[in-house]
Amino acid sequence: MSPQILDNALGAIGHTPLVRLDKVAAQLGLKCNLLAKLEFLSVGGSIKDRIAKAMIEAAESEGKLVPGQSVVIEPTSGNTGIGMAVACAIKGYRCIITLPNKMSLEKEAALRALGAEVVRTPTEAAWDSPDSHIGVAKKLQRRIPGGIILDQYRNVNNPLIHEMATGPEIIEAVVSTPSSTARPSSGKVDVVICGAGTGGTITGVSRAMKKTHNKECIVVGVDPKGSILAVPEDLNTADDGAMYVVEGIGYDFIPDVLSRDPADVDSWIKTGDDESFAAVRIIMRSEGLLVGGSSGSALSGAEKWFKTEAGQKVAQTEGKNVVLIFADGIRNYMSKPWFLSMAMEAEPSELAASIAGALEES
Ligand code: PMP
Repeated sequence: MSPQILDNALGAIGHTPLVRLDKVAAQLGLKCNLLAKLEFLSVGGSIKDRIAKAMIEAAESEGKLVPGQSVVIEPTSGNTGIGMAVACAIKGYRCIITLPNKMSLEKEAALRALGAEVVRTPTEAAWDSPDSHIGVAKKLQRRIPGGIILDQYRNVNNPLIHEMATGPEIIEAVVSTPSSTARPSSGKVDVVICGAGTGGTITGVSRAMKKTHNKECIVVGVDPKGSILAVPEDLNTADDGAMYVVEGIGYDFIPDVLSRDPADVDSWIKTGDDESFAAVRIIMRSEGLLVGGSSGSALSGAEKWFKTEAGQKVAQTEGKNVVLIFADGIRNYMSKPWFLSMAMEAEPSELAASIAGALEES
């Protein structure tokens, strides 16, 4: 389809590119194709734009949201909030976002810039405490006339939009890219690896793959150490209650929209902050992609999965297509110490030596 004028920014949500990560694949010694879905190129900067738009438009068509009256309130780790704030700015709703303290200043600034109000909540408050981002959102809803929580943790439109759009976009890109001698392809999506927060992405994308495309597709969930989403349970116990810096993935409760059915998610991998952030650096320096922390977790999880029995088989098979989901970009984390220390770290190189020499001369 030739490019057309969009009615507004909501038309620039999703439709993100799927790109080869050939240099990373070579570093990992893979024969399979390693591909990434670049969700930070969505208009609000993350994969969560998709669900924000879907939940708001579904509520509008059900008559639950009334322009000029309704106040959208949502507890989020930030990205769903930014998507909601984009949609609310365009559609004219007031928007209040409850955000745990650990989430970045950049997310709060983006939210405020889009006209949303932001209420910070203690990170350590358990999800069912009245002080958590979920508890505070409920309190606000009771007090504010017209307040409505669309609730990404329970809303069926969260996994559904990934089943109807994110998954099919991946399938279409893989199916319509021909296999060649230089770039062999099975013509199918063989593996999907992604982080889970609400679990909407992994659940919906998995359903798209297994129901409509390739029932043998292997879906691997990535869960930070300290979170409890992984199955089996004992994967989570080693780091019980540990705090982690990576944002947007992991929880202290199991959201309704996350399927932990092994028929949907075949296996789970735990990742630590350090390995996630090291992976971000590799993605940036090798592939030129300015991704956020959970994308590093996806790559780090993939690296670990390739060492499992099932993973080794895929890794050594030419043409197998392994898709990682890069959920957001570095815009959200530019002032975070983990990013600044990585970005500013000098790489000892001949080029650096020549630059230093040239500067001394002048
Ligand atoms: N990565 C980031 C940066 C996110 O904000 C989110 C959403 N919380 C995810 C991954 C996980 O997405 P989902 O909620 O669909 O599991």
